[in-house]
Amino acid sequence: MKSIVAGGSRILAGLAGLAFVALLVVGTWTAARPQEPPPSSLNGHPFPVQKTDAEWRKILTSEQYDILRRAGTEMAFTGKYWNNHAKGVYRCAACGNELFRSNTKFESGTGWPSFWAPIRKGAVATRTDTSFGESRTEVLCARCGGHLGHVFDDGPKPTGLRYCMNSAAMVFVPDK
Ligand SMILES: [Zn+2]
Repeated sequence: MKSIVAGGSRILAGLAGLAFVALLVVGTWTAARPQEPPPSSLNGHPFPVQKTDAEWRKILTSEQYDILRRAGTEMAFTGKYWNNHAKGVYRCAACGNELFRSNTKFESGTGWPSFWAPIRKGAVATRTDTSFGESRTEVLCARCGGHLGHVFDDGPKPTGLRYCMNSAAMVFVPDK
């Protein structure tokens, strides 16, 4: 009996070791993955606001740049707006484009500001994102092409959509 238990724990230790190595490999791979800048056009239509990488670096904070221009993601529950309940408009932090209004914001429990619809049709653009080995729908600012987050189809009524945004990609302008 003793030896079976010992054998079992050895297998468990082995599995834990394997999992650790797998995590290391994935971690290294994702850290090393070059974060590509967003496209300058979508479906043949150039975004109205075009700037060089150097210009974006000058305008944006490093956090804003990492998300908007390098498709980064802020840590859940760390952003400015996931728990913001004030009335107002969320604008693109890069170009000022109006993106979302507070009346479509909902509690998603994810730690990221979540909306069930953009402020108007055409405020954001979407494209398929196949990074990290999964297919997701990336949300871009329709004016400057900046990366905002992703949209999922597990949102509330009436659209059933969940626009999962990064706080740092947006600037909230409260109603007066
Ligand atoms: Zn923008």
